[in-house]
Amino acid sequence: MSFASLGLMPALVHAVREQGYHAPTAIQTAAIPTILGGGDVLGLAQTGSGKTAAYALPLLQRVWEQGADAARQPRALVLVPTRELVSQVGEALREFAQALPARLRIALAFGGVSINPQLMGLRGGCDVMVATPGRLLDLIEHNALRLGAVHTLVLDEADRLLDLGFADELNRLLALLPQRRQNLFFSATFAPAVEALANGLLRAPARIAI
Ligand code: AMP
Repeated sequence: MSFASLGLMPALVHAVREQGYHAPTAIQTAAIPTILGGGDVLGLAQTGSGKTAAYALPLLQRVWEQGADAARQPRALVLVPTRELVSQVGEALREFAQALPARLRIALAFGGVSINPQLMGLRGGCDVMVATPGRLLDLIEHNALRLGAVHTLVLDEADRLLDLGFADELNRLLALLPQRRQNLFFSATFAPAVEALANGLLRAPARIAI
């Protein structure tokens, strides 16, 4: 199996080679074609499985294919539980996005630091937003961005999002998203609360357990 045969565009195939990836991992092989086709995904996957690239690559391809939003509002939103994950996922997205023919802006936001640089950073808009839920709500309350153009939502480490008490924030954010959208849900564990969140969110997902 090769990255090209999964349907990734040549620029992204080149980018993964530059990263030193020779072949897709199991979760990448299963998830990338589904995501490129617009389907929902329920992924039971641990860190180390390659799950970040499994959603980051097709997400970027879809955002790029659709061309820039006139108001430069985010078209993909990635919610993660911690600042460290915002940085890791943001770095992966930026590395891959560099290979694209047009520049995509990847904005990052997390709590525990001053909101002002993040407000400034969003002034020119963004194409992809990676954030922790609480700080994202703060930014929306400051009118720094709107979520009405989001066509793809990723919940990464959904179990930890719930463990860290983000359920209320998540529900408030979900209410701000368009109804018609693609949902990509990743979790390392599937306790009943995680399953309930997934069931409320996903439509006929491809179930991928690695
Ligand atoms: P993740 O599970 O997304 O945290 O990724 C774990 C690590 O695997 C990261 O350092 C990635 O850069 C690396 N990785 C992801 N996909 C591949 C691949 N197809 N081949 C080699 N390394 C990869």
